[in-house]
Amino acid sequence: MQKITIAIDGFSSCGKSTLAKALAHKLNYSYVDTGAMYRAVTLHALRNNLIDKEDTLNEEGLIKVLDDIEISFVFDQHHKTSETFLNGENVEKFIRDMEVSKHVSKVSSIKEVRAKMIAIQRHMGKKKGVVMDGRDIGTNVFPKADLKIFMTADTDIRAQRRKDEHTSKGQYFSLEEVKRNLQKRDYDDSHRKENPLSQAEDAVVLDNSDISREEQLEFVLKLIDDLHLLMKEREKEKERQRHH
Ligand code: C5P
Repeated sequence: MQKITIAIDGFSSCGKSTLAKALAHKLNYSYVDTGAMYRAVTLHALRNNLIDKEDTLNEEGLIKVLDDIEISFVFDQHHKTSETFLNGENVEKFIRDMEVSKHVSKVSSIKEVRAKMIAIQRHMGKKKGVVMDGRDIGTNVFPKADLKIFMTADTDIRAQRRKDEHTSKGQYFSLEEVKRNLQKRDYDDSHRKENPLSQAEDAVVLDNSDISREEQLEFVLKLIDDLHLLMKEREKEKERQRHH
């Protein structure tokens, strides 16, 4: 079957990566978590004291060290998932920390940071057969993606999911604090100048507030089946026209 590009965008903590990973696994595609890339850059900024105690980001300083930042994904056979590497170090367990979440929207709004990440993302998706999740995949990274999904869910449900994720790692935050972070990120991500989060006109909306992971996967697999049928029809039509 012809390989396609699948773009999944949406608000924070909507379960984009859970769905994207399940799809990639099912289809034997690669999975690219673009949020993890912006998180890795933010971690680099924090570690290099480019964000001070008053939470001010030294933008110029970060732009200067951008060339020193190398981000890659390595598939971990044991965990059956791809893990994020920053300059050769597996940073998966640091990039979801609240400290990174607090600053990532600021870092991701910098034009130079986005230009570098988008170039890497386009390179990674060049051969198709990829599921990529983020905020601007269907609108900007791959505006011609074969399938675009825009995910959303009730804010309280999203906050609870993210809180549970932190708790499972032994990190305790109040639901209010987690919710505030999500809402602030959603606002900042939707209102920034460079590639803001927005729904592509041709995206299919998936509100997963009340549906299970299995149902979400089934829903998207059905869309993919329909798309493949449509592609076959188009191919046949082209063939017919060639013979006339
Ligand atoms: O998806 P995740 O919550 O890990 O993304 C972290 C942050 O990275 C987002 O809040 C957003 O600021 C940024 N991001 C982005 N563009 C993307 C993916 C993520 O600006 N394509």
